[in-house]
Amino acid sequence: MSILIDEQKRILEMLYPSSHQEYETVLEVIAAFIEKEVHPRADETDRSAVFPRRSVEGLFELGFTRISFPKKYGGLELPSVVCVAAMELVAKGCASTALSTSIHGTVCEGLLIFGSHEQREEHLGKLIAGEELASFALTEAHSGSDAKSMRTKAEPKGDSFVLNGSKMFITNAGEADLYFVFARTDKGPSAFLVPKDVDGLKFGKELSKIGMRGSPLREVIFEDCIVPAGNLVGEEGKGFDYAKRMLHGGRITVAAIALGIAQGAFEQSLKYSKEREAFGQPIAGFQMTQMKMADTATSINAGRLLTSYAAYLKDSGVDFESAAAQAKLFSSETALKACDEAIQIHGGYGYTDGLGVHRHWRDAKLTTIGEGTSEILRVIIAKNLLESSSS
Ligand SMILES: Cc1cc2nc3c(=O)[nH]c(=O)nc-3n(C[C@H](O)[C@H](O)[C@H](O)COP(=O)(O)OP(=O)(O)OC[C@H]3O[C@@H](n4cnc5c(N)ncnc54)[C@H](O)[C@@H]3O)c2cc1C
Repeated sequence: MSILIDEQKRILEMLYPSSHQEYETVLEVIAAFIEKEVHPRADETDRSAVFPRRSVEGLFELGFTRISFPKKYGGLELPSVVCVAAMELVAKGCASTALSTSIHGTVCEGLLIFGSHEQREEHLGKLIAGEELASFALTEAHSGSDAKSMRTKAEPKGDSFVLNGSKMFITNAGEADLYFVFARTDKGPSAFLVPKDVDGLKFGKELSKIGMRGSPLREVIFEDCIVPAGNLVGEEGKGFDYAKRMLHGGRITVAAIALGIAQGAFEQSLKYSKEREAFGQPIAGFQMTQMKMADTATSINAGRLLTSYAAYLKDSGVDFESAAAQAKLFSSETALKACDEAIQIHGGYGYTDGLGVHRHWRDAKLTTIGEGTSEILRVIIAKNLLESSSS
């Protein structure tokens, strides 16, 4: 595993000519930790499907979540481009670890943007320091892409809200300390902070899945779950807008996860193609292998540029909905193709267990589904195109 992906360095040099070295130092510290502590556990995490708590906590201790958050809350206030580069490195080492930390980051961002002063003071410092783990609960059994049709209810009662219903496919559920939950009040979808120890908060069994097997996934159930009115985030009825904004940011991070998975599969294939011989020569000598390598490297670099561009736009304060959707659409489909080619290049050794090659494909598949399926992203990109071309 290379310490830092050279292409990331070039992007940082291009965007931040006077400060790129500082950012590279941060990334090198993270990359060294991943190489030593996270990557060696990735295969076992996949096989056992056990939450890689040590990897996640180690990254938190290193300051991983601090990268792009304000100094006021203990952050480093570095550009989001640095944050996505770091996420790519984590995903290259272990995609399950990356997914769990990425959802945590999405909640931190939601709290920063939409949380009250009191909510930020109470939770943000602890979350950014990694003392607590967060979870984002939007999807329901009957509403994934169509999240606005959620059925979970929050009814006001005195100085509280009573939540009833359930959320499906929730990452970090059962492990997290704080849940950023969307539930419907009379005014529409609204957002609430639900701490892990409140009465009426329950979890389904861990859901078994083909990839991202170390990232915990459960149903979250609310049975007369009472939270103080002060746990309402922002304004009642605005929850869907908040969820959308959080997902725009989350999509850039999922794009970075996809690229990290693709980069890992690609580097493994490159090495193998020089070692494996057929017809008296390394398979890297065949033009068809070289074509796969050339196409994969080109697509990964294109995805990295799109993803860095979306992160840069996000920091610039302009609308980045379409850029984030394009970054995730392209990077996740690139990752699937790259991981498919990695299996092909490894032949039978890629298809069978042992070399850990098919894990990349299984992990990559999630990136075309979570935080907006490829179909929904195309809907968003087209909507933005049509709106901008009519003005
Ligand atoms: C491992 C994993 C982790 C997850 N983590 C979280 C989490 O932490 N928090 C959370 O809230 N959710 C989470 N999810 C849920 C995820 O966001 C949803 O699965 C996803 O949004 C798709 O929703 P769905 O599964 O209900 O599919 P559906 O919405 O039922 O879609 C099924 C198919 O129909 C297509 N489709 C739907 N609508 C349209 C349309 N308008 N046009 C064209 N095609 C359409 C979809 O693209 C898809 O191919 C997670 C899911 C997984 C698998």
